[in-house]
Amino acid sequence: MMTAPGKKKPGPVQQQALRSLPSVEELLEAEALAADAVSHGHRLVADAARSVLARLRRDILAGVPVDAAQSSPERLAAQVRQEAARIYRPTLRPLINATGVVVHTNLGRSILAPEAIRAVEEVSVSYSNLEYNLEAGTRGSRHDHITRIITELTGAEDALVVNNNAAAVLLALSTFASGREVVVSRGELIEIGGSFRIPEIMAASAARLVEVGTTNKTKINDYRKAIGPGTAMLLHIHTSNYAVVGFTAAVEVAELARLGHERGLVVMDDLGSGALAELPVFASEPPVKSSLAAGADIVTFSGDKLLGGPQAGIVVGSADAVGRMKAHPMARALRVDKMTLAALQATLALYLKPEEAAARIPTLRMLSEPEESLRARAEALAAGLKDLEPAVTASVEKAVSKVGGGALPLLELDSYVCAVAPVSLSVDELAARLRKTDPAVIGRIHKDRLLLDARTVLPGQVEAVTAAFGQATGI
Ligand SMILES: *Cc1c(COP(=O)(O)O)cnc(C)c1O
Repeated sequence: MMTAPGKKKPGPVQQQALRSLPSVEELLEAEALAADAVSHGHRLVADAARSVLARLRRDILAGVPVDAAQSSPERLAAQVRQEAARIYRPTLRPLINATGVVVHTNLGRSILAPEAIRAVEEVSVSYSNLEYNLEAGTRGSRHDHITRIITELTGAEDALVVNNNAAAVLLALSTFASGREVVVSRGELIEIGGSFRIPEIMAASAARLVEVGTTNKTKINDYRKAIGPGTAMLLHIHTSNYAVVGFTAAVEVAELARLGHERGLVVMDDLGSGALAELPVFASEPPVKSSLAAGADIVTFSGDKLLGGPQAGIVVGSADAVGRMKAHPMARALRVDKMTLAALQATLALYLKPEEAAARIPTLRMLSEPEESLRARAEALAAGLKDLEPAVTASVEKAVSKVGGGALPLLELDSYVCAVAPVSLSVDELAARLRKTDPAVIGRIHKDRLLLDARTVLPGQVEAVTAAFGQATGI
Protein backbone atom coordinates (compact mmCIF):
# COMPACT_ATOMS: atom_id res chain seq x y z
CA MET A 1 0.00 0.00 0.00
CA MET A 2 1.41 3.36 -0.98
CA THR A 3 0.37 6.78 0.14
CA ALA A 4 0.82 9.70 -2.21
CA PRO A 5 3.58 12.03 -0.95
CA GLY A 6 2.27 14.94 1.04
CA LYS A 7 -0.89 13.06 2.03
CA LYS A 8 -1.85 12.71 5.63
CA LYS A 9 -0.75 9.41 7.18
CA PRO A 10 -3.63 7.00 7.70
CA GLY A 11 -4.92 6.86 11.26
CA PRO A 12 -5.04 3.63 13.29
CA VAL A 13 -8.60 2.73 12.16
CA GLN A 14 -7.68 3.19 8.51
CA GLN A 15 -4.46 1.22 8.95
CA GLN A 16 -6.43 -1.59 10.51
CA ALA A 17 -8.92 -1.52 7.60
CA LEU A 18 -6.10 -1.54 5.04
CA ARG A 19 -4.36 -4.41 6.76
CA SER A 20 -7.52 -6.48 6.74
CA LEU A 21 -7.79 -6.32 2.93
CA PRO A 22 -6.74 -9.50 1.15
CA SER A 23 -3.87 -9.36 -1.34
CA VAL A 24 -4.58 -9.81 -5.06
CA GLU A 25 -3.25 -13.36 -4.83
CA GLU A 26 -5.44 -14.19 -1.85
CA LEU A 27 -8.46 -12.76 -3.59
CA LEU A 28 -7.77 -14.78 -6.72
CA GLU A 29 -7.73 -17.93 -4.67
CA ALA A 30 -11.35 -17.36 -3.69
CA GLU A 31 -13.40 -20.25 -4.97
CA ALA A 32 -15.93 -17.95 -6.61
CA LEU A 33 -13.27 -16.57 -8.94
CA ALA A 34 -11.73 -19.81 -10.14
CA ALA A 35 -14.29 -20.33 -12.91
CA ASP A 36 -13.97 -16.72 -14.09
CA ALA A 37 -10.21 -17.00 -14.27
CA VAL A 38 -10.74 -19.93 -16.61
CA SER A 39 -13.42 -18.37 -18.82
CA HIS A 40 -12.07 -14.77 -18.94
CA GLY A 41 -8.40 -15.57 -18.53
CA HIS A 42 -6.28 -15.21 -15.40
CA ARG A 43 -4.78 -11.89 -16.38
CA LEU A 44 -8.09 -10.10 -16.85
CA VAL A 45 -9.44 -11.39 -13.53
CA ALA A 46 -6.22 -10.35 -11.79
CA ASP A 47 -6.52 -6.86 -13.29
CA ALA A 48 -10.14 -6.69 -12.15
CA ALA A 49 -9.08 -7.77 -8.63
CA ARG A 50 -6.42 -5.06 -8.59
CA SER A 51 -8.95 -2.36 -9.56
CA VAL A 52 -11.45 -3.50 -6.94
CA LEU A 53 -8.81 -3.49 -4.20
CA ALA A 54 -7.43 -0.14 -5.34
CA ARG A 55 -10.90 1.38 -5.20
CA LEU A 56 -11.44 0.09 -1.72
CA ARG A 57 -8.08 1.42 -0.53
CA ARG A 58 -8.88 4.82 -1.98
CA ASP A 59 -12.18 4.79 -0.11
CA ILE A 60 -10.49 3.85 3.15
CA LEU A 61 -7.84 6.54 2.77
CA ALA A 62 -10.50 9.09 1.90
CA GLY A 63 -12.11 8.32 5.26
CA VAL A 64 -15.10 6.40 3.88
CA PRO A 65 -16.10 3.94 6.61
CA VAL A 66 -15.49 0.39 5.36
CA ASP A 67 -16.70 -2.41 7.61
CA ALA A 68 -15.47 -5.97 7.72
CA ALA A 69 -18.41 -7.27 5.66
CA GLN A 70 -17.51 -4.96 2.78
CA SER A 71 -13.97 -6.27 2.63
CA SER A 72 -14.92 -9.89 3.12
CA PRO A 73 -13.46 -12.17 0.43
CA GLU A 74 -16.97 -13.17 -0.74
CA ARG A 75 -18.09 -9.59 -1.26
CA LEU A 76 -14.85 -8.64 -2.95
CA ALA A 77 -14.95 -11.72 -5.19
CA ALA A 78 -18.45 -10.74 -6.33
CA GLN A 79 -17.19 -7.27 -7.20
CA VAL A 80 -14.23 -8.71 -9.06
CA ARG A 81 -16.56 -10.94 -11.07
CA GLN A 82 -18.68 -7.94 -12.05
CA GLU A 83 -15.63 -5.89 -12.96
CA ALA A 84 -14.14 -8.73 -15.03
CA ALA A 85 -17.42 -9.32 -16.85
CA ARG A 86 -17.60 -5.61 -17.65
CA ILE A 87 -14.15 -5.66 -19.24
CA TYR A 88 -14.71 -8.99 -20.95
CA ARG A 89 -18.06 -8.24 -22.47
CA PRO A 90 -17.84 -6.71 -25.96
CA THR A 91 -19.13 -3.15 -25.95
CA LEU A 92 -20.48 -3.49 -29.50
CA ARG A 93 -23.57 -5.58 -28.91
CA PRO A 94 -26.77 -6.49 -30.72
CA LEU A 95 -29.95 -4.73 -29.61
CA ILE A 96 -33.58 -4.58 -30.58
CA ASN A 97 -34.54 -1.62 -32.72
CA ALA A 98 -38.13 -0.75 -31.87
CA THR A 99 -37.83 2.82 -33.12
CA GLY A 100 -39.43 2.05 -36.48
CA VAL A 101 -36.53 3.86 -38.22
CA VAL A 102 -35.38 1.23 -40.69
CA VAL A 103 -32.00 2.64 -41.74
CA HIS A 104 -30.93 3.98 -38.34
CA THR A 105 -27.35 5.22 -38.53
CA ASN A 106 -26.86 5.11 -34.74
CA LEU A 107 -28.15 1.54 -34.59
CA GLY A 108 -25.94 0.18 -37.37
CA ARG A 109 -27.99 1.06 -40.47
CA SER A 110 -28.83 -2.02 -42.52
CA ILE A 111 -28.82 -5.56 -41.22
CA LEU A 112 -27.59 -8.14 -43.67
CA ALA A 113 -29.37 -10.78 -45.72
CA PRO A 114 -28.57 -14.38 -44.70
CA GLU A 115 -26.77 -14.84 -48.02
CA ALA A 116 -24.46 -11.94 -47.17
CA ILE A 117 -23.71 -13.29 -43.71
CA ARG A 118 -22.88 -16.70 -45.15
CA ALA A 119 -20.57 -15.10 -47.70
CA VAL A 120 -18.72 -13.18 -44.96
CA GLU A 121 -18.28 -16.35 -42.97
CA GLU A 122 -17.02 -18.35 -45.93
CA VAL A 123 -14.46 -15.79 -46.92
CA SER A 124 -13.30 -15.27 -43.32
CA VAL A 125 -12.68 -18.87 -42.24
CA SER A 126 -10.46 -19.64 -45.20
CA TYR A 127 -7.85 -18.00 -47.39
CA SER A 128 -9.36 -16.56 -50.55
CA ASN A 129 -8.45 -15.24 -53.99
CA LEU A 130 -8.95 -11.65 -52.78
CA GLU A 131 -6.06 -10.38 -54.89
CA TYR A 132 -5.15 -13.50 -56.79
CA ASN A 133 -6.08 -14.31 -60.36
CA LEU A 134 -6.90 -18.01 -60.40
CA GLU A 135 -6.79 -18.29 -64.18
CA ALA A 136 -3.40 -16.74 -64.69
CA GLY A 137 -1.91 -17.71 -61.34
CA THR A 138 -0.76 -14.13 -60.88
CA ARG A 139 -1.61 -11.21 -58.67
CA GLY A 140 -5.21 -10.04 -59.18
CA SER A 141 -7.21 -7.01 -58.15
CA ARG A 142 -9.73 -6.93 -55.30
CA HIS A 143 -11.83 -4.52 -57.37
CA ASP A 144 -12.49 -7.15 -60.01
CA HIS A 145 -14.71 -9.26 -57.77
CA ILE A 146 -17.40 -6.66 -57.59
CA THR A 147 -17.17 -4.82 -60.90
CA ARG A 148 -19.10 -7.25 -63.03
CA ILE A 149 -22.22 -7.44 -60.89
CA ILE A 150 -22.37 -3.68 -60.33
CA THR A 151 -22.00 -2.91 -64.02
CA GLU A 152 -24.65 -5.54 -64.76
CA LEU A 153 -27.10 -3.91 -62.34
CA THR A 154 -26.42 -0.29 -63.25
CA GLY A 155 -25.31 -0.33 -66.87
CA ALA A 156 -22.10 1.49 -65.89
CA GLU A 157 -18.85 0.86 -67.76
CA ASP A 158 -16.86 0.41 -64.57
CA ALA A 159 -17.26 0.38 -60.79
CA LEU A 160 -15.21 0.76 -57.63
CA VAL A 161 -16.06 0.11 -53.99
CA VAL A 162 -14.53 2.08 -51.10
CA ASN A 163 -15.04 2.36 -47.35
CA ASN A 164 -18.27 4.42 -47.44
CA ASN A 165 -20.00 7.01 -49.58
CA ALA A 166 -18.18 9.86 -47.83
CA ALA A 167 -14.92 8.20 -48.93
CA ALA A 168 -16.27 7.83 -52.48
CA VAL A 169 -17.01 11.56 -52.65
CA LEU A 170 -13.63 12.42 -51.12
CA LEU A 171 -11.79 10.19 -53.58
CA ALA A 172 -13.67 11.61 -56.55
CA LEU A 173 -12.98 15.21 -55.53
CA SER A 174 -9.31 14.42 -54.86
CA THR A 175 -8.94 12.65 -58.20
CA PHE A 176 -10.61 15.21 -60.42
CA ALA A 177 -10.56 18.52 -58.60
CA SER A 178 -7.61 18.83 -56.21
CA GLY A 179 -6.43 22.44 -56.43
CA ARG A 180 -9.25 23.21 -58.84
CA GLU A 181 -12.89 24.32 -58.67
CA VAL A 182 -16.09 22.36 -58.19
CA VAL A 183 -19.41 24.05 -58.94
CA VAL A 184 -22.31 23.13 -56.61
CA SER A 185 -25.81 24.54 -56.19
CA ARG A 186 -26.48 26.37 -52.89
CA GLY A 187 -29.58 24.21 -52.59
CA GLU A 188 -27.43 21.07 -52.37
CA LEU A 189 -24.75 21.96 -49.82
CA ILE A 190 -25.78 19.15 -47.57
CA GLU A 191 -24.83 17.94 -44.15
CA ILE A 192 -25.35 14.26 -43.41
CA GLY A 193 -25.33 13.25 -39.78
CA GLY A 194 -23.06 16.04 -38.57
CA SER A 195 -19.74 14.71 -39.79
CA PHE A 196 -20.27 14.79 -43.54
CA ARG A 197 -20.63 18.31 -44.87
CA ILE A 198 -19.98 19.07 -48.50
CA PRO A 199 -17.90 22.22 -47.85
CA GLU A 200 -15.69 20.29 -45.40
CA ILE A 201 -15.19 17.27 -47.66
CA MET A 202 -14.32 19.73 -50.39
CA ALA A 203 -11.70 21.37 -48.18
CA ALA A 204 -10.25 17.97 -47.21
CA SER A 205 -9.75 17.11 -50.88
CA ALA A 206 -8.14 20.50 -51.61
CA ALA A 207 -10.88 21.29 -54.13
CA ARG A 208 -12.34 24.81 -54.16
CA LEU A 209 -16.08 25.05 -53.73
CA VAL A 210 -17.87 27.46 -56.03
CA GLU A 211 -21.45 27.97 -54.88
CA VAL A 212 -24.07 28.96 -57.40
CA GLY A 213 -27.75 29.85 -57.32
CA THR A 214 -29.76 30.29 -54.15
CA THR A 215 -31.12 27.93 -51.50
CA ASN A 216 -34.40 27.39 -53.33
CA LYS A 217 -33.56 28.09 -56.97
CA THR A 218 -30.59 27.26 -59.16
CA LYS A 219 -30.68 27.44 -62.97
CA ILE A 220 -28.38 26.10 -65.66
CA ASN A 221 -27.21 29.63 -66.40
CA ASP A 222 -25.91 29.94 -62.84
CA TYR A 223 -23.60 26.98 -63.51
CA ARG A 224 -22.63 28.33 -66.95
CA LYS A 225 -21.57 31.69 -65.56
CA ALA A 226 -19.48 30.05 -62.82
CA ILE A 227 -17.34 27.99 -65.21
CA GLY A 228 -13.84 29.38 -65.69
CA PRO A 229 -10.33 28.17 -66.45
CA GLY A 230 -10.00 26.68 -62.95
CA THR A 231 -13.20 24.62 -63.09
CA ALA A 232 -12.81 20.84 -62.95
CA MET A 233 -16.23 19.48 -62.03
CA LEU A 234 -19.95 20.12 -61.90
CA LEU A 235 -21.32 18.32 -58.84
CA HIS A 236 -24.94 17.36 -58.33
CA ILE A 237 -25.91 16.14 -54.85
CA HIS A 238 -29.13 14.37 -54.03
CA THR A 239 -30.84 16.23 -51.18
CA SER A 240 -31.32 12.91 -49.51
CA ASN A 241 -32.22 13.90 -45.97
CA TYR A 242 -34.34 16.99 -46.58
CA ALA A 243 -36.53 18.49 -49.26
CA VAL A 244 -36.68 21.99 -50.68
CA VAL A 245 -40.34 22.54 -51.41
CA GLY A 246 -42.47 25.43 -52.63
CA PHE A 247 -40.99 28.03 -55.01
CA THR A 248 -38.06 25.97 -56.26
CA ALA A 249 -35.93 25.18 -59.27
CA ALA A 250 -33.07 22.73 -59.59
CA VAL A 251 -31.06 21.60 -62.60
CA GLU A 252 -31.48 17.99 -63.70
CA VAL A 253 -28.39 15.80 -64.10
CA ALA A 254 -29.02 15.50 -67.87
CA GLU A 255 -28.84 19.24 -68.35
CA LEU A 256 -25.78 19.50 -66.13
CA ALA A 257 -24.09 16.69 -68.08
CA ARG A 258 -24.72 18.43 -71.43
CA LEU A 259 -23.17 21.65 -70.15
CA GLY A 260 -20.27 19.87 -68.45
CA HIS A 261 -19.34 17.84 -71.48
CA GLU A 262 -19.57 20.87 -73.78
CA ARG A 263 -16.90 22.43 -71.56
CA GLY A 264 -14.81 19.31 -71.00
CA LEU A 265 -15.68 19.02 -67.28
CA VAL A 266 -16.34 15.97 -65.11
CA VAL A 267 -19.98 15.68 -64.07
CA MET A 268 -20.66 13.85 -60.83
CA ASP A 269 -23.86 12.87 -59.04
CA ASP A 270 -23.74 11.98 -55.33
CA LEU A 271 -26.93 10.00 -54.81
CA GLY A 272 -26.68 9.12 -51.13
CA SER A 273 -28.81 5.99 -51.13
CA GLY A 274 -29.28 5.23 -54.78
CA ALA A 275 -31.94 2.78 -55.93
CA LEU A 276 -30.73 -0.34 -57.72
CA ALA A 277 -33.98 -2.04 -58.62
CA GLU A 278 -37.42 -0.89 -59.58
CA LEU A 279 -39.13 -1.63 -56.32
CA PRO A 280 -42.06 0.32 -54.88
CA VAL A 281 -40.09 0.87 -51.66
CA PHE A 282 -37.61 3.06 -53.48
CA ALA A 283 -40.43 5.45 -54.31
CA SER A 284 -38.82 8.82 -55.05
CA GLU A 285 -35.20 7.73 -54.58
CA PRO A 286 -33.35 8.43 -57.85
CA PRO A 287 -32.22 5.24 -59.61
CA VAL A 288 -28.51 4.81 -60.24
CA LYS A 289 -29.27 3.78 -63.81
CA SER A 290 -31.05 7.06 -64.66
CA SER A 291 -28.16 9.13 -63.36
CA LEU A 292 -25.76 7.28 -65.63
CA ALA A 293 -28.17 7.37 -68.56
CA ALA A 294 -28.49 11.13 -68.02
CA GLY A 295 -24.76 11.38 -68.67
CA ALA A 296 -23.08 11.60 -65.26
CA ASP A 297 -19.43 10.51 -65.49
CA ILE A 298 -19.34 9.46 -61.83
CA VAL A 299 -22.22 8.41 -59.57
CA THR A 300 -21.71 7.57 -55.89
CA PHE A 301 -23.96 5.92 -53.29
CA SER A 302 -23.87 4.05 -49.96
CA GLY A 303 -23.87 0.29 -49.49
CA ASP A 304 -25.75 0.28 -46.18
CA LYS A 305 -28.58 2.72 -46.75
CA LEU A 306 -31.54 1.67 -48.88
CA LEU A 307 -29.36 -0.84 -50.71
CA GLY A 308 -29.39 -2.94 -47.55
CA GLY A 309 -25.81 -4.22 -47.65
CA PRO A 310 -22.62 -3.63 -45.63
CA GLN A 311 -21.07 -0.21 -45.06
CA ALA A 312 -19.46 0.75 -48.36
CA GLY A 313 -19.26 3.53 -50.89
CA ILE A 314 -20.02 2.48 -54.45
CA VAL A 315 -18.67 4.43 -57.38
CA VAL A 316 -19.97 3.79 -60.88
CA GLY A 317 -19.32 5.63 -64.12
CA SER A 318 -17.32 5.78 -67.30
CA ALA A 319 -14.32 3.49 -67.70
CA ASP A 320 -12.03 6.48 -67.94
CA ALA A 321 -13.31 8.31 -64.87
CA VAL A 322 -13.53 5.23 -62.62
CA GLY A 323 -10.13 4.07 -63.88
CA ARG A 324 -8.58 7.38 -62.82
CA MET A 325 -10.12 6.99 -59.36
CA LYS A 326 -8.78 3.44 -59.02
CA ALA A 327 -5.31 4.69 -59.88
CA HIS A 328 -5.33 7.49 -57.29
CA PRO A 329 -3.07 6.69 -54.30
CA MET A 330 -5.93 7.50 -51.93
CA ALA A 331 -7.93 4.54 -53.35
CA ARG A 332 -5.52 2.25 -51.50
CA ALA A 333 -6.20 4.03 -48.23
CA LEU A 334 -9.96 3.88 -48.66
CA ARG A 335 -10.22 0.32 -49.91
CA VAL A 336 -12.65 -2.23 -48.47
CA ASP A 337 -11.76 -5.55 -46.88
CA LYS A 338 -12.75 -9.03 -48.03
CA MET A 339 -15.66 -9.27 -45.60
CA THR A 340 -17.25 -6.15 -47.02
CA LEU A 341 -16.66 -7.33 -50.57
CA ALA A 342 -18.20 -10.73 -49.80
CA ALA A 343 -21.27 -9.22 -48.11
CA LEU A 344 -21.76 -6.67 -50.86
CA GLN A 345 -21.37 -9.19 -53.65
CA ALA A 346 -23.94 -11.51 -52.06
CA THR A 347 -26.38 -8.64 -51.45
CA LEU A 348 -26.03 -7.39 -55.01
CA ALA A 349 -26.56 -10.89 -56.38
CA LEU A 350 -30.03 -10.80 -54.83
CA TYR A 351 -30.81 -7.69 -56.87
CA LEU A 352 -30.50 -9.69 -60.08
CA LYS A 353 -34.04 -10.84 -59.25
CA PRO A 354 -35.83 -7.84 -57.73
CA GLU A 355 -38.54 -9.94 -56.02
CA GLU A 356 -35.79 -11.92 -54.34
CA ALA A 357 -34.09 -8.73 -53.16
CA ALA A 358 -37.37 -7.47 -51.69
CA ALA A 359 -37.93 -10.72 -49.85
CA ARG A 360 -34.39 -11.52 -48.66
CA ILE A 361 -32.77 -8.16 -47.90
CA PRO A 362 -33.98 -7.11 -44.45
CA THR A 363 -33.99 -3.36 -45.17
CA LEU A 364 -36.18 -3.83 -48.24
CA ARG A 365 -38.36 -6.39 -46.52
CA MET A 366 -39.00 -4.08 -43.57
CA LEU A 367 -39.81 -1.16 -45.82
CA SER A 368 -42.37 -3.16 -47.73
CA GLU A 369 -43.87 -5.27 -44.94
CA PRO A 370 -47.67 -5.32 -45.27
CA GLU A 371 -49.69 -3.55 -42.59
CA GLU A 372 -51.47 -6.73 -41.59
CA SER A 373 -48.25 -8.46 -40.71
CA LEU A 374 -47.04 -5.39 -38.79
CA ARG A 375 -50.26 -5.38 -36.85
CA ALA A 376 -49.89 -9.05 -36.00
CA ARG A 377 -46.38 -8.43 -34.62
CA ALA A 378 -47.53 -5.40 -32.60
CA GLU A 379 -50.28 -7.60 -31.16
CA ALA A 380 -47.79 -10.33 -30.31
CA LEU A 381 -45.67 -7.71 -28.49
CA ALA A 382 -48.71 -6.50 -26.54
CA ALA A 383 -49.75 -10.06 -25.71
CA GLY A 384 -46.26 -10.77 -24.38
CA LEU A 385 -46.50 -7.78 -22.05
CA LYS A 386 -49.93 -8.80 -20.71
CA ASP A 387 -48.27 -10.85 -17.97
CA LEU A 388 -46.51 -7.75 -16.69
CA GLU A 389 -49.75 -5.98 -15.82
CA PRO A 390 -50.24 -3.98 -13.71
CA ALA A 391 -46.58 -2.80 -13.88
CA VAL A 392 -47.21 -1.72 -17.47
CA THR A 393 -50.21 -1.61 -19.76
CA ALA A 394 -49.80 -2.23 -23.47
CA SER A 395 -52.09 -1.50 -26.40
CA VAL A 396 -51.81 -1.71 -30.17
CA GLU A 397 -52.14 1.47 -32.23
CA LYS A 398 -51.56 2.75 -35.75
CA ALA A 399 -48.50 4.94 -36.23
CA VAL A 400 -46.03 6.04 -38.88
CA SER A 401 -42.43 4.92 -39.26
CA LYS A 402 -39.60 6.61 -41.14
CA VAL A 403 -37.04 5.26 -43.55
CA GLY A 404 -34.10 7.02 -41.85
CA GLY A 405 -30.43 7.01 -42.87
CA GLY A 406 -30.89 10.25 -44.72
CA ALA A 407 -33.23 8.70 -47.26
CA LEU A 408 -36.75 9.55 -48.36
CA PRO A 409 -37.16 12.24 -45.65
CA LEU A 410 -40.80 12.96 -46.39
CA LEU A 411 -41.94 9.38 -46.74
CA GLU A 412 -44.15 8.21 -43.89
CA LEU A 413 -44.83 4.51 -43.71
CA ASP A 414 -48.04 3.37 -42.07
CA SER A 415 -47.17 1.03 -39.25
CA TYR A 416 -48.40 -0.43 -35.98
CA VAL A 417 -46.90 0.11 -32.55
CA CYS A 418 -47.27 -1.56 -29.22
CA ALA A 419 -47.71 1.46 -26.91
CA VAL A 420 -46.49 0.76 -23.38
CA ALA A 421 -47.55 2.89 -20.42
CA PRO A 422 -45.55 2.21 -17.25
CA VAL A 423 -47.57 2.46 -14.07
CA SER A 424 -45.14 3.01 -11.21
CA LEU A 425 -42.12 4.18 -13.24
CA SER A 426 -41.65 7.25 -15.39
CA VAL A 427 -41.39 6.50 -19.10
CA ASP A 428 -37.84 7.87 -19.08
CA GLU A 429 -36.89 5.49 -16.28
CA LEU A 430 -38.44 2.57 -18.17
CA ALA A 431 -36.54 3.51 -21.34
CA ALA A 432 -33.31 3.84 -19.34
CA ARG A 433 -33.78 0.37 -17.83
CA LEU A 434 -34.50 -1.13 -21.25
CA ARG A 435 -31.18 0.27 -22.47
CA LYS A 436 -29.46 -1.87 -19.81
CA THR A 437 -31.17 -5.19 -20.55
CA ASP A 438 -29.43 -7.79 -22.70
CA PRO A 439 -30.30 -7.29 -25.48
CA ALA A 440 -31.28 -3.65 -24.96
CA VAL A 441 -34.61 -2.51 -26.41
CA ILE A 442 -34.75 0.96 -27.96
CA GLY A 443 -38.21 2.41 -28.56
CA ARG A 444 -39.68 5.86 -29.22
CA ILE A 445 -40.89 7.94 -26.31
CA HIS A 446 -44.12 9.73 -27.10
CA LYS A 447 -45.59 11.73 -24.22
CA ASP A 448 -45.76 9.33 -21.28
CA ARG A 449 -45.61 6.12 -23.27
CA LEU A 450 -42.92 4.04 -24.90
CA LEU A 451 -43.83 3.06 -28.46
CA LEU A 452 -42.47 -0.18 -29.88
CA ASP A 453 -42.78 0.01 -33.66
CA ALA A 454 -43.36 -3.45 -35.13
CA ARG A 455 -41.65 -2.53 -38.42
CA THR A 456 -38.10 -2.81 -37.10
CA VAL A 457 -38.63 -5.49 -34.43
CA LEU A 458 -37.62 -8.73 -36.13
CA PRO A 459 -40.18 -11.52 -36.07
CA GLY A 460 -37.92 -13.65 -33.88
CA GLN A 461 -37.38 -10.91 -31.30
CA VAL A 462 -40.83 -10.69 -29.73
CA GLU A 463 -39.94 -13.02 -26.85
CA ALA A 464 -36.71 -11.18 -26.16
CA VAL A 465 -38.69 -7.92 -25.90
CA THR A 466 -41.03 -9.54 -23.37
CA ALA A 467 -38.06 -10.84 -21.37
CA ALA A 468 -36.38 -7.42 -21.43
CA PHE A 469 -39.53 -5.75 -20.08
CA GLY A 470 -39.69 -8.43 -17.40
CA GLN A 471 -36.14 -7.55 -16.32
CA ALA A 472 -36.75 -3.82 -16.56
CA THR A 473 -39.88 -3.90 -14.43
CA GLY A 474 -38.38 -6.42 -11.99
CA ILE A 475 -40.82 -9.25 -12.64
C1 LIG B 1 -25.43 9.41 -46.70
C2 LIG B 1 -24.88 10.31 -47.72
C3 LIG B 1 -23.49 10.47 -47.83
C4 LIG B 1 -22.54 9.77 -46.90
O1 LIG B 1 -22.61 8.38 -47.09
P1 LIG B 1 -21.91 7.37 -46.03
O2 LIG B 1 -22.08 6.03 -46.65
O3 LIG B 1 -22.66 7.56 -44.76
O4 LIG B 1 -20.50 7.76 -45.91
C5 LIG B 1 -23.02 11.29 -48.82
N1 LIG B 1 -23.87 11.93 -49.64
C6 LIG B 1 -25.22 11.82 -49.57
C7 LIG B 1 -26.09 12.56 -50.52
C8 LIG B 1 -25.77 10.99 -48.59
O5 LIG B 1 -27.10 10.86 -48.49
